[in-house]
Amino acid sequence: MLDSTDAGDLSAVRDHTRELIESASDVDGPVLIEAPPNSGKTTNAIRLALEAEKPVTYLARRIDLYEQAEQKAEEYDDLRYERIPAPQRDCETFLGDNDGSAAAVQRLYEKGYSGRRIHLEFQDYAPCGMDCDYIDTLETIDEEIESIDLLIGHHSHCTRHQYVRNRIVIIDEFNPDPFLQPFPGDNSTVIDDPGDIVPGFLNALDEADTGFPTEIYGDVTDLIQRRDGPQGWQEAIDWFREKEASRRSAQNFDFLDPTLGEYDDVHAYAPFLTLSLLCMERIGPGIDLAPPPSGALDDIWEDADLGLATKCLRDRNKGKMYALNPPDLSAAAQVIGLDGTPTIELWNLLFAPEDGFDHQKVIAREDFPTYLRSAMNMSLIQIGDGWHPYAAGNISDSDSNRFTAVQILEEGPFALVSTKQALERYKDRGLLDTFVKRTGSNQDAADTRVSVEHQALHYATLKSSNAFEKESLGVVAGMPHPGDDLVQLWAGFCGEAVKVTRSDEEDVVKSFGELGNKIYEYFAHDQVVQAILRFGRDESVYENGGATVYISTYALPDWFEVDAEYNIQSKELEGAVLAKLFEIYQEEDGHDLALRTVNQIHESVDEDDRLKEDPSKRGVRNALERLASKDYVTVHPDRGKYSADLYAWSGGGEFLQAEDGTPLLHVESDIHVLQLEDVWES
Ligand SMILES: [Zn+2]
Repeated sequence: MLDSTDAGDLSAVRDHTRELIESASDVDGPVLIEAPPNSGKTTNAIRLALEAEKPVTYLARRIDLYEQAEQKAEEYDDLRYERIPAPQRDCETFLGDNDGSAAAVQRLYEKGYSGRRIHLEFQDYAPCGMDCDYIDTLETIDEEIESIDLLIGHHSHCTRHQYVRNRIVIIDEFNPDPFLQPFPGDNSTVIDDPGDIVPGFLNALDEADTGFPTEIYGDVTDLIQRRDGPQGWQEAIDWFREKEASRRSAQNFDFLDPTLGEYDDVHAYAPFLTLSLLCMERIGPGIDLAPPPSGALDDIWEDADLGLATKCLRDRNKGKMYALNPPDLSAAAQVIGLDGTPTIELWNLLFAPEDGFDHQKVIAREDFPTYLRSAMNMSLIQIGDGWHPYAAGNISDSDSNRFTAVQILEEGPFALVSTKQALERYKDRGLLDTFVKRTGSNQDAADTRVSVEHQALHYATLKSSNAFEKESLGVVAGMPHPGDDLVQLWAGFCGEAVKVTRSDEEDVVKSFGELGNKIYEYFAHDQVVQAILRFGRDESVYENGGATVYISTYALPDWFEVDAEYNIQSKELEGAVLAKLFEIYQEEDGHDLALRTVNQIHESVDEDDRLKEDPSKRGVRNALERLASKDYVTVHPDRGKYSADLYAWSGGGEFLQAEDGTPLLHVESDIHVLQLEDVWES
């Protein structure tokens, strides 16, 4: 690990990242390297493919990272590389470029049938068959895998044994999405509710007369209620031991015949869900897990062609089920994880369930701010006054003031990150049009933006996009508040039930317990940090002053540091009083001459047509009493006529004006947005 001084030096960080990756390739047991953004992870993966004795499989989340890896690999003549194809990108049927049915193959895919299987067995829908580019590349890779030095693909590809066997597997960033499947899915277009597909499967078993005790088990309730019963259970388990329950096996069951009908309930995961229901154990309130953490049913699980890391969780309250299918990386020559801010428990759960990762760091977590500031040249400014959980789109009323402040201070539009729902609100209220940068013509059409015209991305999309790498000005607004369910789910897969203790302030969870908090922070704080880190990653930015990112949420890890914090204030009367004090101070020659009584200040605010306020004297007095705590307002008690208190502005400050004419009074770390009746010309 580098010391604090070197943590600010980009080339030192890159050298050390390289050293750690190189030495990780030689040791036994998986290694997780904590390396900051831009430390040359892709370059090192390619270097390893050139130099190491074993071939490399490099897996990333983002398409543009694959492309970057392909481009770099192209530079070496003697490096053989291949990109693992995806049906959605490489098959003419999936792309809708032939006489087949793109909708039909997509539907089968959603039912759990693999791209390969669809080409083999559903050629009516996929006429490309074995001549397809997708299949062709898959076969080339299969046949020539030994001679491919560098295989580039998506995280989901590490579930295929051949892509990892006897290779150095590099996993760039933590991405749980491909390994977790909810039933029903969030946006699925096929029937995948356990309440439908499990009875569908049991029914098919019954009709095909397969020897399964369907007289005992007809639906989900039977499976749950009669799993401890004297009858049927052993018979059912024996059936699965013989026929297996994995998706892979299910695709071969001839009694399961998926059709494209709207109400077709065949699903390749149904056998797995059925066996899981028979093997589940309660691990906490409302949460059942299979196989039981005690290990009592592990034999059954393995006989049914399921790895021990494969798990199924059921949320009893919602009846929702989740399949966790971590890849089996035991045959890999080595597994190297790369992550800027890893949560080790989640890495271990998915990618090293047996041994756990050896966690190495390029720089200490507490030196991360130094790296961002010195090596990446970033400026980070806090403009929030709370957590601002925006998952449901409840944006703060002060956000337009915050955006105004950023626009004025930075003299231009910015790129914006928030939750999808919040971006929709901003769009409806015209805030995107007013404040956010327009997109260029080269925008990636594949990303799912709330508005294609604006450089505004939501947290989920941002992770798989490099669209902000050349942006030097950004705002990260609010946090993606994960629901309790999500934390309970992941903790449940780790074998722990979490208890939620709420804090009184705001709608933010105070504690999920030790493991739960780590998981919560991964889905909340770390996503905010990841969003911040998407800005200005390109050389053109960090070598030219770097990016400035404004952050309006307190959901940041303990180690994170901002360079400045602005309090954006828009209290009408206080703003008016301050504006007057400031104006008087500028007009008079010196502090003493600018001293005024409450009466005088009330009068000048009242008489100023530009100010919206028509305040009472009491209102002005109260506002002044509140403002007296500010460094830039001085109060001299009893110094005026009849022992009146005198007030004056003291110190600097400036008036700034937004494009729409809104003036701001900026002094120290406070920015007062003035509410005006008329134009303010100072
Ligand atoms: Zn095809």
